[in-house]
Amino acid sequence: MTHIITSLCLRDSGCVDVCPVECIVPGMPQEKYPLYYIDPDTCIDCGACVPECPYEAIFSEDDVPEPFVAAGGEIVAKPEGTAGYDKEYTGENQHGVEVKLSNTKVLEADDEVDFDDEVKANYEFFEDGPGYWEGWEDHAN
Ligand code: SF4
Repeated sequence: MTHIITSLCLRDSGCVDVCPVECIVPGMPQEKYPLYYIDPDTCIDCGACVPECPYEAIFSEDDVPEPFVAAGGEIVAKPEGTAGYDKEYTGENQHGVEVKLSNTKVLEADDEVDFDDEVKANYEFFEDGPGYWEGWEDHAN
């Protein structure tokens, strides 16, 4: 079992600071991996990262909402080329560092988002993707 970061993630990075086993890695290249990702083999399911996320993007794998139903105003980030996600987002992470995401969408109330893909993407980031890429610690804050 693991925790999963969904596409509500806007790369705040606060989760990285509190993870006791250092298993949360920022996605890179960002266009392909816009979120932060949790290594499912290392996560101990402590839940410490959940309240740290200002966007409420992190769920225990069993509790990932299917589908996620928006209250309205949430921003969702997807990989480059995802249809309908063409709005640029600019903000700041927990450490005051600028965050820029090119492929986002602002949800309206009752919009539904399928998070099934994100569970898969989280696993694939470590199985087939960059995983713990060189220098990831320096880019996590
Ligand atoms: Fe790290 Fe605990 Fe979150 Fe797993 S649940 S990613 S171990 S902080």
